[in-house]
Amino acid sequence: MIGLIFGPPGSGKGTQASRVEREFGMSHLSTGEILRSEVAHGSAVGKEAARIMAAGDLVSDDLIDRIVESRLSRIDPTSNVLLDGFPRTTEQAKALDAMLEPRTVDFVVSLDVPEALLIDRLLHRAAVEGRADDTREAIMERMREYHSRTASVLDHYREQVVSVLEVDGVGDVDAVFDRVRQAIKKLAASKPRARGI
Ligand code: ADP
Repeated sequence: MIGLIFGPPGSGKGTQASRVEREFGMSHLSTGEILRSEVAHGSAVGKEAARIMAAGDLVSDDLIDRIVESRLSRIDPTSNVLLDGFPRTTEQAKALDAMLEPRTVDFVVSLDVPEALLIDRLLHRAAVEGRADDTREAIMERMREYHSRTASVLDHYREQVVSVLEVDGVGDVDAVFDRVRQAIKKLAASKPRARGI
């Protein structure tokens, strides 16, 4: 099974992805986490990405595609994978299709949260965690990038008749996870090749 967790910045993708990973035994790959770790280690990739991320912009498709391809090649091809933060552009979605061949994306969990709440959550996280891209300016830029380049990724999957599971992302972590779990279980019951999860 290949699943994606999708949603705007602050929608809780990373938190829900960790729970899905545990519940369904999937390998979780977060491009945001990979990039933050590269930045922390001061690698060549990290040096290239740090300034772009801090400004709330997207790093280049080419760089992120190479990172994901190399990580996927290290994962057992029969295992269940949950991608978080990728693909973030239609170009990345097309690159992912080519990387996965002959496998395909089985489902997309899309977390739905109103924008005013997203901004509140991100400003709160800025106060608690101090992530470099959680300044008000970078947050607004990430929202703009989401609307102009990322939101359309869902259309890519809808056109391919991939199941897009829309989940209400408002509420506490457990309540949201309950909805995510139900949605994945319902899908698994209706799709023969998804029964393994
Ligand atoms: P969030 O969704 O909360 O903004 P992430 O942790 O998923 O946070 O990503 C943080 C930053 O890392 C993004 O704003 C972007 O700069 C970079 N990034 C992560 N994934 C991608 C991607 N697939 N393509 C381009 N940039 C990415």
